[in-house]
Amino acid sequence: MIDTHAHLYAGEFDEDRNMMLERAKTAGIKTILLPNIDLSSIDAMHQLEQESEGYCISMMGLHPCSVKQDYKEILAQMKKWLEKRPYHAIGEIGIDLYWDKSTYPIQADAFEEQLAWSYQFQLPVSIHSRESTREVLDILQSNKKTLAGGVMHCFSGTVDQMHELVELGFYIGVGGSSTYKNTNLVPVIQNAPLNRIVLETDAPYLTPVPYRGKRNESAYIPIIAERIADIRGISVDEVSKKTTENAIRLFSLETALMQS
Ligand SMILES: [Zn+2]
Repeated sequence: MIDTHAHLYAGEFDEDRNMMLERAKTAGIKTILLPNIDLSSIDAMHQLEQESEGYCISMMGLHPCSVKQDYKEILAQMKKWLEKRPYHAIGEIGIDLYWDKSTYPIQADAFEEQLAWSYQFQLPVSIHSRESTREVLDILQSNKKTLAGGVMHCFSGTVDQMHELVELGFYIGVGGSSTYKNTNLVPVIQNAPLNRIVLETDAPYLTPVPYRGKRNESAYIPIIAERIADIRGISVDEVSKKTTENAIRLFSLETALMQS
């Protein structure tokens, strides 16, 4: 299985990062994708990628909650990284209207610029959306001719919105929130094409039940696979196999997996 979205470079893992990675390997996690946040997270992310010998793979991008007035300058520096070395994805990027609605115009501008990078470098995007599924879909629709695919991480939209996303060529990221009692994801998981679902933790956040309230980590990915298997009435093996194939296809991980 592959964890397609985890912030394992975060300070929350400083005490036991190596043991946490060992637990992930023991749990059958083949590789882990690291979404970037802002300029301050880049060094720690690259360092983890290097120290883990490619077991963890970096993305590059500016998180919507970190889009401030100086975002053009920040994006220029991030673009230099994309020109300097290879990445498997642009992320995490998108729109967050939960924390701050007032920055919507600059969030949308930063999102569109990074979607343009995705097309230019032919890299998929990892999209963060909170209380903004409609806004994200509208921006994707208006850039329809110049998209290179990606995943809406921690998807929280409706079944109709899921179908719209799939028609745009995108994948659905399913994580710990699918295990919560109040989740609206059951019909989405039932109806999504199995070849468009990928697993994720968003560690250290969004910890699945029964560990909810504690720190999340990549070793909990099998809980998500079991949840999807339960909802769809299929075997965990099938969910593992299909979602792994999906992540390999989406993020072009064939050679990365051979090396690690
Ligand atoms: Zn994230």
